Amino acid sequence: MGANVVPFARPWYGPEEEELVGRVIRSGWVSQGHQVEAFEQAVASSVGAAHAVATNSCTTALILALRLQGIGPGDEVICPTFTCMATANAICAVHAKPVFVDIDPRTYNLDPALVAAALGPATRAILGVDQIGLPAAWNELAELARRHGLALIEDGACALGAEYQGKKVGGLGWPTTFSFHPRKIIATGEGGMLMLNEAELAERARRLRSHGAGVSDLVRHQSGGSINTDYPEPGYNFRMTDLQGALGVIQAHRLEWFVAERRRQARIYDQALAGLEQVETPWTPPGCQPAYQSYLVRLRPECAVSRDEVVRILVAHGVACRSGIEPLHLGPYFRAIYLGLCLPEAEKAARETLFLPIFPGLEEAQQQLVIEVFSRAVRSPTAGAA
Ligand SMILES: *Cc1c(COP(=O)(O)O)cnc(C)c1O
Repeated sequence: MGANVVPFARPWYGPEEEELVGRVIRSGWVSQGHQVEAFEQAVASSVGAAHAVATNSCTTALILALRLQGIGPGDEVICPTFTCMATANAICAVHAKPVFVDIDPRTYNLDPALVAAALGPATRAILGVDQIGLPAAWNELAELARRHGLALIEDGACALGAEYQGKKVGGLGWPTTFSFHPRKIIATGEGGMLMLNEAELAERARRLRSHGAGVSDLVRHQSGGSINTDYPEPGYNFRMTDLQGALGVIQAHRLEWFVAERRRQARIYDQALAGLEQVETPWTPPGCQPAYQSYLVRLRPECAVSRDEVVRILVAHGVACRSGIEPLHLGPYFRAIYLGLCLPEAEKAARETLFLPIFPGLEEAQQQLVIEVFSRAVRSPTAGAA
């Protein structure tokens, strides 16, 4: 069988996206404008946030969130090590220092007890991550932040549509970021969004997003040139285009179905793999509804085949998959700074886990093939075993 009989992930688009993007092209206004505004409103109302500020990525949305909290040189920010490099990159981009903390092996998210142990005099913020679309232990993290006077920021890149204690991620009451990269829940090519509850913070985020300008391009354009902008402070160009905004407007309409479809596929994996003693399927803590951006399985000691061998077998049978997340503190850059740092649960998870394909558009026959090939792979005896 050739490569990619089953892809790992694919965005899902219909004729509606083509139509609206076409309309934006024909309108002559392709930079940040009405479509971005409509997309912001759609996401804000869907998650129950007061304000939304679209950006060109989740990384830049995180940079804005850190800037709004005044995080800068000399400050330490707690974050998990079992996450996308972008989480730490955002902290480095504001010249603060990431302090990597280990995960709860059942959820792959920050372990609040270890966060408490990592707090120090320079700690200014906790940047929690809803890894693979499962909300972190936010009650505990929020209580720690409150007790120690720290900012709380949520990297919800993978968790659009997820719920925590009956509320949607993005509407929990602190700054939260989303990603619209094609590997995430909705896809605008590249894109991100910062959800906020305070109007002044949203206003400043909009300014920082656009060179620090006090007036947006659209307002300036609509005034016929009579309004000039001033620049109260230096900013960035983190703007989303209206081409992306148009994709987002339509994708936001599909969000509920996307998440339902991911949950349906996760149930199928859960049931099909439940009988395998070699495999641990994802655990969902009470009160959480994951978005299942990814489906992460762990190989137990009962599995005689190595994780890398299982990945190799899947790929050889045309099933695209990925091995678990490489802990950030083991990467070449951070390893040299945090010499000898050992975060055993994340390191273990990195060795024992892999991602199976999950995305709207994954066909039933494709998912059955994944289940068949994977089940056979984990049950096969090792070469050379007695
Ligand atoms: C994907 C991802 C990001 C980065 O998102 P971009 O939109 O590519 O910047 C950040 N954090 C986490 C947890 C992610 O999974």
